[in-house]
Amino acid sequence: MNAATSQPGAQHSAQRGADQAESGDATGLGRVLEPGVIDTSHGPILYLEDLTVQFDGFRALNKLSLSIDHGELRCVIGPNGAGKTTMMDVITGKTGPRNANVSGRVFLGQSIDLMRMTEPRIAQVGIGRKFQKPTVFEQHEVWENLELAMKADKRWWSSLRARLTGEGHRRIEETLALTGLEDEAYRPAGLLSHGQKQRLEIGMLLMQQPQLLLLDEPVAGMTDEETMQLAGLLNSLRGSCSMMVVEHDMEFVAALAGPSGKVSVLAEGSLLAEGTLDAVKRDERVIESYLGR
Ligand code: ADP
Ligand code: MG
Repeated sequence: MNAATSQPGAQHSAQRGADQAESGDATGLGRVLEPGVIDTSHGPILYLEDLTVQFDGFRALNKLSLSIDHGELRCVIGPNGAGKTTMMDVITGKTGPRNANVSGRVFLGQSIDLMRMTEPRIAQVGIGRKFQKPTVFEQHEVWENLELAMKADKRWWSSLRARLTGEGHRRIEETLALTGLEDEAYRPAGLLSHGQKQRLEIGMLLMQQPQLLLLDEPVAGMTDEETMQLAGLLNSLRGSCSMMVVEHDMEFVAALAGPSGKVSVLAEGSLLAEGTLDAVKRDERVIESYLGR
């Protein structure tokens, strides 16, 4: 063993080197290669500037600029067709310069240019997305769903194989507690209620330790009780990841934004207003285009 590898921390940096070698790099971007290395030293975790997306000449997004601070839980509201889902499609790489007419800038932290990355790569750098419909493995038990989600994450796979049980079990148990699914751990996911499935899917995303979680209308189809349970879960994630939540349910938005959280209003592909929920609700343009009188 040479002097360098016997120093404290040397093993960690060696692992880092290996990760970099493994990931390097179809995109030509060798910068961000493991969770936790997103440069948010100047504030935003997500930064959109003049983002325009055209479908056959129609602008689903029209010079949209918006940024989310590191650690923030941002709610986004706006009428159907405003471009909210399209925005998430661009952030996650589902829609990009490869398959659509897109211009503008989309950055994760200071240095990660998401527009130059593929969809799987974007998931790898720490963006998790929750779609409206829960997608869990119905035949598998809740516990197995979480385990599969953890193993699907290549960043953890090699170390997990070596020493799965302790750390892996601990993380699964932690996630079961966080999502309120402890009592369901050994039930097939197909038997869960809609609200429980939604929480399980969020738990599966959490197993991959995202830096930024995107949720598109997560409470659609939920009971009031399930809705407030989900608000509680997302509020409890503050501090462990940044979140962007698109939702129409104003009670849910109020539970997430609180009196001082920022809410963004999209309309016709642009940012129409931004501020506290109270302020945007009083904004004439927002009343006109979304809330009604
Ligand atoms: P929101 O999520 O705010 O309801 P969307 O982002 O789904 O809005 O849609 C914005 C606009 O872009 C809508 O008019 C929609 O019909 C259009 N649109 C979205 N995706 C496509 C696509 N792949 N092809 C053509 N038009 C699309
Ligand atoms: Mg939508």
